[in-house]
Amino acid sequence: MMDPKVILIDTDGVLLNWRDTFDAWMMRQGIYAKGDVRQYDQTVRYGIDQEKITHLILMFNQSANIGYLPPLYDSYKYVRKLYEEHGYKFLVVSSLSKDPYAQKLRTKNLKMIFGKEVFEDFIYLDTGADKTEVLAELSKIYPGAFWIEDKVGNAKIGSELGFDSILIAHPHIKTEDTGSTPIMKNWKEVYEYVIGETWI
Ligand SMILES: [Mg+2]
Repeated sequence: MMDPKVILIDTDGVLLNWRDTFDAWMMRQGIYAKGDVRQYDQTVRYGIDQEKITHLILMFNQSANIGYLPPLYDSYKYVRKLYEEHGYKFLVVSSLSKDPYAQKLRTKNLKMIFGKEVFEDFIYLDTGADKTEVLAELSKIYPGAFWIEDKVGNAKIGSELGFDSILIAHPHIKTEDTGSTPIMKNWKEVYEYVIGETWI
């Protein structure tokens, strides 16, 4: 195998399907998404205030659910292919929670699905925390690396720091906001972009 090349990667909405599991957990509390369900911002999706939704997200992210999120779309197939056939490894940058046990559960969840060998490392920040500082540090170690996100702001920060940002398509992503950052409809497109095949 070739020397590992490192891809920086978000987790929720990129490697794992956070949203559907969150919605299912919310329903068990008797809370239903009654706002604009296409949006990224959960206050808009649920139509409840910031303080309450932040508390609920924190509860969910620190619950046992976080150890059992399913892979997003076709992520498993192409993460494995990028590792096995092209020598890429993944460095997770996730604003999950400061709780060390929630972090351990996420790491376990990711290793269980994708295999521990595909991961270079795991960096965890507070729930919903800004990634600018960590990305700035990582840009010195992995200049120009791929950076895969589903949050437009984080992808843009990555591009400004010289990373090759990629967005995973979700209903909340509006093409007019994304500038020149490519939006991939699925992981097959991510794979083709990373290995340099055409993706349009
Ligand atoms: Mg995300």
